Amino acid sequence: MKPNRIRMTRQRKAILKALKETDSHPTADQVYLMVRHQIPNVSLGTVYRNLEILCEEGAIQKLEMGRTQMRFDGRMDLHHHIRCVKCGCIGDIIIEPINLNDTMLASRTNFEITGYQLDFSGICPECKKKSPGMVN
Ligand SMILES: [Zn+2]
Ligand SMILES: [Zn+2]
Repeated sequence: MKPNRIRMTRQRKAILKALKETDSHPTADQVYLMVRHQIPNVSLGTVYRNLEILCEEGAIQKLEMGRTQMRFDGRMDLHHHIRCVKCGCIGDIIIEPINLNDTMLASRTNFEITGYQLDFSGICPECKKKSPGMVN
């Protein structure tokens, strides 16, 4: 972990707060709209730049799921994500950490394993309601 040398500007604080208060995993554009309520003169560029900095500092995480827009998450404890294949919404899944055997993986790939991502996809409750053909 890098030492916490993050300089908290007013904008950065507002962005971090907005992300900590939601579990909707917003896109940068959505974060911009959230922050603009508090700081009307904030620019989209500032929001993008601060999101990058907050990610680098480990204060938030960036989610790259499928070919959709980058999403941001203020939640930093270990959890997995599920994405709706219909509307693209992202939910959190809290499950016991999956214990992958690094040595086994390394011997199969010749890679030194440094991490993994495990994401799920499905159809969210809202979309399920909208498609009556789907059996529950
Ligand atoms: Zn959905
Ligand atoms: Zn999350």
